[in-house]
Amino acid sequence: MRNPVPELLDEVLRACADDDEGELLQTIPELADEDPDRFAVALCTLDGRVHSAGDAEHRFTIQSVSKPFAYALALADRGLETVLQHVGVEPSGDAFHEISLESNGRPRNPMINVGAITTHSLIGDPSLGLAERDERVLAGLSAFAGRRLEVDDAVAASEREHASRNLALAYLVHSQGKLDGEPHDAVDGYIRQCSARVDVRDLAVMGATLAAGGRNPVTGEQVVDSWVCTQVLSVMATCGMYDAAGDWMSRVGIPAKSGVAGGVLGALPGQAGLAAFSPRLDEIGSSVRGVRAFERLSVELGLHLMHAPEVASHVLHGVVEPDRDGDGRREVQLQGTMHFAAAEVAVRELQQLPDDGAPVVLDLSRVASTNAIGRRLLTEAVERMRGDGHEVEVADPDGHLAG
Ligand code: GLU
Repeated sequence: MRNPVPELLDEVLRACADDDEGELLQTIPELADEDPDRFAVALCTLDGRVHSAGDAEHRFTIQSVSKPFAYALALADRGLETVLQHVGVEPSGDAFHEISLESNGRPRNPMINVGAITTHSLIGDPSLGLAERDERVLAGLSAFAGRRLEVDDAVAASEREHASRNLALAYLVHSQGKLDGEPHDAVDGYIRQCSARVDVRDLAVMGATLAAGGRNPVTGEQVVDSWVCTQVLSVMATCGMYDAAGDWMSRVGIPAKSGVAGGVLGALPGQAGLAAFSPRLDEIGSSVRGVRAFERLSVELGLHLMHAPEVASHVLHGVVEPDRDGDGRREVQLQGTMHFAAAEVAVRELQQLPDDGAPVVLDLSRVASTNAIGRRLLTEAVERMRGDGHEVEVADPDGHLAG
C-alpha cells in the first residue's frame, strides 16, 4: 500500500506553486541570491515519521524560526521567572525589527528581534564565553532537529555587515538593564543562531519535538521539559507570525514561526510538526507560498487548533453489566485517554450505579493514557465509593492509576 500522505503534500505543493508574488529579502544581501522558485513542505508525526515534498533536501538559514527554540533553551537553562524578568509574552502587533519595549524596558516578546536578542543572551550559564554560548545554542537547535546543524558563515558575515538596527535594539535593551552581557556579543551570537542551516525536514522534526512535549520523536531524546514546550507554543501562537499573528491564528490555527529566508515552522500539540520553505516574502516578512501551503494544510488535514474535536463518545465503553459472568458484579469499562473531561464522565457513571451492594469492577485495561487530573478523579472516586461501603475492584494491568 502506498502511503497517501506524501501525495497529499504533493497536491498542496502543486496547488500553491503558481503563486510567484512576493520579493526576496534585500536586507541580508547573501539571501538575495537564493533561487526564488524553490518550494518544499514537510510533516513529522509524533512517532517520528517524516513525509516531505518538493525541494526537501535544500538547505537554507533558519533565521527567525530559531527564535522559539532559543526561547526554549533560555527557559530550560534559566527558568521561567528569570526569563520573564527580561522578556515579556505580549504580542506587539509591530514589525519584527521594531523597538517594541514595555514601559519597564522589557522587550514585549521573544519572537521579535529585540526580544530574541535579549533571549539569546540568556542561553546557558551566565558565566559562558561567546564561543561556549554559541556551542550551547547550536547543540540545542541540533538536538531539536535530531542532527548536527552547521552555521552558514557567508550568511552570518553578510548579516553582520548590516546589523546596525539589531545593534541599536541591543544597546537600547542594555541601557534598560534587561540585556545579560555586551550588546555586540549578543547580536553576534544571535546572528550565528539565525544562520544555522536547515531543510524543511529538519524544521518539521523541530516542530514535532515541541508538539510532543520536548521529546524528539526521531532520536527519542528529551530535549527540554514539557512545561517549556507549553510556554513556547503559547508564545508562538500569540506572537509567532510577526504583526499578522492574529490573522494567522484565526485562518490557519497552528502555532507557528516564520523566518526571512523563507522557512515557516508549525507545531500542533499532540499531533505533528509541519514546515514549508519558499524564499519570496510578503510585506511582513513571511514566505508567500509557505503561508499558502500552511493555509491549505490546515484545511486539508483538519489541523486548526481551535476546531473542536469530535466528542469522545468512545471514552466509556461498556457501562453496567450486572450479571455478565454470573457473579453479580457490575463492570465499568473505560477506554481512551483519561483526561479531565473523560474522567469526569467516568466518575458520573460510577456515581450513578445502583446502591444495591453489588461489587463493582472498574476496568482500565483499555485505557491508553491518563494525566494527573484523570488519575486524581478516578482514584478519589474509587476511594469514596469504598468509603461509602462499596466493594470496588480496580483492574489496571498497565498501572495507569499508579501514575
Ligand atoms: N536574522 C534576521 C534579523 O535579525 C532574522 C529576521 C527574521 O527572520 O524575521 O533581521
